[in-house]
Amino acid sequence: MGQYIAPLRDMQFVLHELLQVEDHLKELPAFADVDADIINQVLEEGSKFASQVIFPLNHSGDREGCHHNREDHSVTTPKGYKAAYEQYVAAGWPSLSCDPAFEGQGLPLTLNNSFYEMMNSANLAWTMYPGLSHGAYECIHEHGTPEQKALYLPKLVSGVWTGTMCLTEPHCGTDLGMLRSKAEPQADGTYRITGNKIFISAGEHDMTENIVHLVLARLPDAPEGSKGISLFIVPKFLPKADGTPGVRNPITCGAIEEKMGIHSNSTCQMNMDGATAWLIGGPHKGLQAMFVFMNAARLGVGMQGLGITEIAYQNALVYAKDRLQMRSLSGVKAPDKPADPIIVHPDVRRMLLTAKAYAEGGRAFCSYVALQLDKELNHPDEEVRKECADQVALLTPIIKAFLTDNAWSATSECLQVYGGHGFIAEWGMEQYVRDARITMIYEGTNTIQSLDLLGRKILMDNGAKLRKFGEQIKAFVEENGTDEAMSEFITPLGDIGDKVTKLTMEIGMKAFQNPDEVGAAAVPYLRVVGHMVFAYFFARMAKIALAKQDTGDTFYKAKLATARFYFARLLPETAMLIRQARSGSANLMELEADLF
Ligand SMILES: Cc1cc2nc3c(=O)[nH]c(=O)nc-3n(C[C@H](O)[C@H](O)[C@H](O)COP(=O)(O)OP(=O)(O)OC[C@H]3O[C@@H](n4cnc5c(N)ncnc54)[C@H](O)[C@@H]3O)c2cc1C
Repeated sequence: MGQYIAPLRDMQFVLHELLQVEDHLKELPAFADVDADIINQVLEEGSKFASQVIFPLNHSGDREGCHHNREDHSVTTPKGYKAAYEQYVAAGWPSLSCDPAFEGQGLPLTLNNSFYEMMNSANLAWTMYPGLSHGAYECIHEHGTPEQKALYLPKLVSGVWTGTMCLTEPHCGTDLGMLRSKAEPQADGTYRITGNKIFISAGEHDMTENIVHLVLARLPDAPEGSKGISLFIVPKFLPKADGTPGVRNPITCGAIEEKMGIHSNSTCQMNMDGATAWLIGGPHKGLQAMFVFMNAARLGVGMQGLGITEIAYQNALVYAKDRLQMRSLSGVKAPDKPADPIIVHPDVRRMLLTAKAYAEGGRAFCSYVALQLDKELNHPDEEVRKECADQVALLTPIIKAFLTDNAWSATSECLQVYGGHGFIAEWGMEQYVRDARITMIYEGTNTIQSLDLLGRKILMDNGAKLRKFGEQIKAFVEENGTDEAMSEFITPLGDIGDKVTKLTMEIGMKAFQNPDEVGAAAVPYLRVVGHMVFAYFFARMAKIALAKQDTGDTFYKAKLATARFYFARLLPETAMLIRQARSGSANLMELEADLF
């Protein structure tokens, strides 16, 4: 049903022409040999896996969902899922950007990032099975003991085991400080965990011989709240001395959730009844250790937003060129047909261009952050590593929230392109809307991302990270300020940069008097900053397109048109958002709860 053709041309434009990743990777000894040919080949092969292996399972998987067996607590994934996973493992995809010390291929995260965009487009729910393993890999890689690394990493890298993150409990989602699962120390240095986790993605399935759960729980002497949380490795089967799965650990799936979307990913209630566990990251230091996982997952969820935006756009575009309804207002465009294709109508174009601009802006933004991550982890200069780490920290909540909010509106616009047929399951578009919705919720809701951005990442460091990013924008504005052809992009870019600076100072001042001002401004504020970032990348992409528009390659013409649409139609949303953010907390807090 429908189609998925990986946007390889745009990916290559972003990686090679916009970001010049090859030059950046050359500065990193680990990737000095990674050239454009390698990157393009991997993208090409990755696109085949996405479009030929997992895309054909996307709609059937959604219809069928997962099956839970109450007797033995097993979960069976939809038809074809396990076989696709076997192909994924056989082709070596799980190890793409993993450490060669643990049998990884040692390629850049930037490349893995583009591969994940394609997988998310092709089948978001399937991609969550291996996607969560990557976070588990990173967490153990950074915080595990040498023995834990030697035991678990090669299994996660090869993909023969998958990983999960077990944070949420029935009474505690956002506020992890309230979690109750208990870990009792044992004489042999292990722990026994008892408790219930809910909403655990890929918590149980039939794809792999073992599952490595990373579980947050409390030690007996734990202080109250978030300072008393520890992190544990809890394998489904206890590994034997030779690393093969042994005795079944009592961490079992009590039920799987019926839900709005991502039906083919098992969302599990996990019961731990004295499950054997190993501490990772030190007593009461669980949240710090888990943050490695959570940050990786936040970027991953932003990528889900991008992937689903792209596939919704592609299919709506095909439909809009095919569906004949009414005649163009400016005269008949298809005289040989009984009506014009709906793509002639301005508002249908608005909907398509909205999704196209969100996909292309998101791709540039995500690839940029992935490159910063590669530099943070691999650059020989400590100063550069620190700068990149700051940028990743600043931009992560924006990627998570801005791209997933955009995905929700883009998939909805794309559904609208189909008219009534969009609402009907047969066309597949309603699945994209349903699947997109969860991305705004899990991995910290988008409200929580906004509070993280404004409160922690900006106000708590007096705007230093934001200023640093702003310097790049200023430099670009100054460099291109006298170029007449660029003025349609440079003027609004400079303007939004100034407005963000003023808005940040204003909210910062108000927050001194009343902390609720931060909570009242955070959501519109994040969207404003998200637009500033998009405006910066669209201006940079427009500059390249302007220089190459006469080459005869229509790609650049399309890029320029999309950038113009973005500046004319999407960026102006910031005027309203800034008014909302400035309106203060009183209009939200005045009404007493019992008067609602
Ligand atoms: C399909 C699915 C898959 C999931 N996968 C996993 C998984 O693999 N592992 C895992 O551990 N969890 C998982 N989750 C859980 C998910 O991360 C939580 O649902 C999410 O963090 C929100 O928690 P909650 O649902 O308890 O909502 P609550 O925390 O109860 O929040 C309810 C509302 O209050 C708002 N709110 C809360 N506190 C504040 C505040 N301080 N300021 C402003 N607003 C606030 C929230 O933004 C939200 O709108 C999954 C959930 C779903 C539905």
